[in-house]
Amino acid sequence: MTTASSPPLVLCISGHDPGGGAGLQADIEAVGAQGAHALGVITALTVQDTRNVRRVEPVAIDIFADQLELLLADSRIAAIKLGLLGSTAQVPVILDAIARCRVPVVLDPVLRAGGGGTLAADATARAIADRLLPAATIATPNADEARRLSGEPTPAAAAARLLATGCEQLLITGGDEATTEVENRWYHRDGREILFRWPRLPQGFHGAGCTLASALAARLALGEAMNVALDRAQRYVHTCLERALQPGRGRAIPGRW
Ligand code: PLP
Repeated sequence: MTTASSPPLVLCISGHDPGGGAGLQADIEAVGAQGAHALGVITALTVQDTRNVRRVEPVAIDIFADQLELLLADSRIAAIKLGLLGSTAQVPVILDAIARCRVPVVLDPVLRAGGGGTLAADATARAIADRLLPAATIATPNADEARRLSGEPTPAAAAARLLATGCEQLLITGGDEATTEVENRWYHRDGREILFRWPRLPQGFHGAGCTLASALAARLALGEAMNVALDRAQRYVHTCLERALQPGRGRAIPGRW
């Protein structure tokens, strides 16, 4: 007789991208590649391609809450990854799940697609900043999202504001900035900072942010310290971008195997 066992479980609460570049599919692939297992609760269906997002349709709150209820009763979660939010009504349900699991929470505060389409209305962005950020262990906004969440123009000023009212740690990613290298800045509320620099690859990517946040959640689920998890998750994303796929006419998507 064999005894079934499980790798660490990462609860991914994310949107669905039918093209498989971003959202829950990115999470499942990235979490699996770290040696953990993803549980997936969908916040919203989207209509999008590799160029841009056309439509976001939230999942009904009762089925969203029911799915979480059953999963939490059945499985022992080791980390939570939060991606695209479907509606502000989902926020208290997510906060309840976080309170019950008491595990590291990685929040990717998705506001806008790389193609420019809106993924979160102003009320949703406010709910992320005011209610989800304080419940996260680490948030991974890109530079544009950090500006929008904080109202501050620079990563340092944005970090000061978001850490004062929100999460304990932040990784502000710079893939969306016009710098020669990609500069990702980690900030801890206790004042520590690390600047990570990565070579900038020539093409545009779709789904890199989801890949990073879910790989980081998986590494934390495996029990790694934050500095180790940050280093390995970023290395993994860089490798995925070096072997990116071109499934459509727009941006490339990470090769997450
Ligand atoms: N669609 C979904 C479901 C997402 O979660 C995200 C980002 O997290 C996007 C689209 C946009 O991804 P990108 O900005 O990489 O195009």
